[in-house]
Amino acid sequence: MTTPQDPMVHVISHPLVQHKLTLMRRKDASTTSFRTLLNELAMLMAYEVTRDMPLQDIEIETPLEKMTAKVIDGKKLALASILRAGNGLLDGFLAVVPGARVGHIGLYRDPATLQAVEYYFKMPKEMSERDVVVVDPMLATGHSAIAAITRIKVLNPKSIKFVCLLTCPEGVKALREAHPDVEIFTAAIDRQLNSHGYILPGLGDAGDRIFGTQ
Ligand code: URA
Repeated sequence: MTTPQDPMVHVISHPLVQHKLTLMRRKDASTTSFRTLLNELAMLMAYEVTRDMPLQDIEIETPLEKMTAKVIDGKKLALASILRAGNGLLDGFLAVVPGARVGHIGLYRDPATLQAVEYYFKMPKEMSERDVVVVDPMLATGHSAIAAITRIKVLNPKSIKFVCLLTCPEGVKALREAHPDVEIFTAAIDRQLNSHGYILPGLGDAGDRIFGTQ
């Protein structure tokens, strides 16, 4: 799963992830199927992202005897969705970790500078006790991800991971340089960014494709 060059960048190469990503990229994929596939992909990615979640022992009783068994504390996880496309990954993650808390950060991209400008920020309480997974389907210029993570770090969470569906070398480089402590999980690193900040070959505008606004 991990790219050998950088142990902090994980490309999830599982065949199911790759297959569903290909179906999503196709320009003739309907809004319904795009959304369904994104939801399924988010569940599969959540499985990898939560691989090192801490476990604790609790005492339970099976129908036959008492035992000590392991559980996660899902409430300690905060999902931070970068609006609006990040919301497309939330349901899949919550299907796997239903107890996770959810925050939102609204950033828009200034069309002239491509810089991220914050317009909304709401996170769960007690962030210093939580591991945070920031979700956004596309890591393109990296401006939104960098700004979101910079803002979340003010709340001093235990750890931060970043999850996207697709990225490109420029996005990975920018985020790794700005936040070297943040692991990146993605299904693919595409060829390049174009002059409008879109990933090539990519899948187009993720928000438009999720919400049917193209
Ligand atoms: N955001 C998108 O939705 N698509 C891209 O290709 C880049 C940024």
